[in-house]
Amino acid sequence: MIIHLAREAGFCFGVERAIDMVQAARDRHPHRPIDILNEIVHNRHVIDDFARQDVQSVHSVEESRDGIFVISAHGVSPEIVKQANGRGLEVLDVTCPLVTKIHRTADRLVRRGYEVLLLGDEGHDEVEGVLGVAPEHIHRIRHPDEAATLPDWDQVALVSQTTQGMSEFDQMERALKQRFPHLEVHNTICHATEQRQEAIAELAALAEAVVVVGSANSANARRLRDIASEMGRPAWLIEDERGLDPAWVAGRAVVGVSAGASTPDKLIRGVLARLEEWGGTLTPLPGQDLGRIRPELALAGPSQQEC
Ligand code: SF4
Repeated sequence: MIIHLAREAGFCFGVERAIDMVQAARDRHPHRPIDILNEIVHNRHVIDDFARQDVQSVHSVEESRDGIFVISAHGVSPEIVKQANGRGLEVLDVTCPLVTKIHRTADRLVRRGYEVLLLGDEGHDEVEGVLGVAPEHIHRIRHPDEAATLPDWDQVALVSQTTQGMSEFDQMERALKQRFPHLEVHNTICHATEQRQEAIAELAALAEAVVVVGSANSANARRLRDIASEMGRPAWLIEDERGLDPAWVAGRAVVGVSAGASTPDKLIRGVLARLEEWGGTLTPLPGQDLGRIRPELALAGPSQQEC
């Protein structure tokens, strides 16, 4: 059995940055309470690793201990920041800059008189944060059918949660343009999401089955699983190697592995190792450098090639 790993899989820069910032705060203040609103990133292992260092997840500003209050990579509404400041908490904002960019874009559009439609998942932290920028003028939308039910607004703009699917965004744009021909469009799906979606499409074209490593509440990881399924491949989303089932890969010649943007490399390694125990051979895609995950499979650097 050949195992291929998607060319882009695992931590994106926004997640790495958020984790590094919280870890740096813990290292600087080993005894100070540090609480994170909701989840720093949507990955159980990352949250548990921080909990072992007494960095706790809380669900509201009121619940937070007096100390450092962390705003996660998904961002929050301005109202939450106001509440935390009002309580005198020291706020550490690790919102991904690409999420902050959506807040700024939506705010600018609303000030110019637009009603802003946000393509996003109900209840997702990032979506709630963007809606909170201007609750009266930013509206969540999920299905192209909803376009027909919207009021007759004069100026309408479309933005997206960073981790939506590229094809869903295109479909939404087409549907809304039928309703609002002068729709202003800002595709705010982030580059890391786009790259991981392209990479799993390449993988699913080669593999007979696909495993995505990530937490069930990670929007981008779920999307990766869905893309592989839509391409007709059996696909599963698992937290770590304990979620693997030998029956999924039995008799398969090629199995693909990918991972969400909030999945640590150690979990990807664990899944690859388990598949290898079951007879798989990790094999690079053409031109792929697997050195980050497996140093022994790193492509030779220029100096070695010269030798
Ligand atoms: Fe930032 Fe994109 Fe990563 Fe979200 S998925 S943290 S928006 S880089």
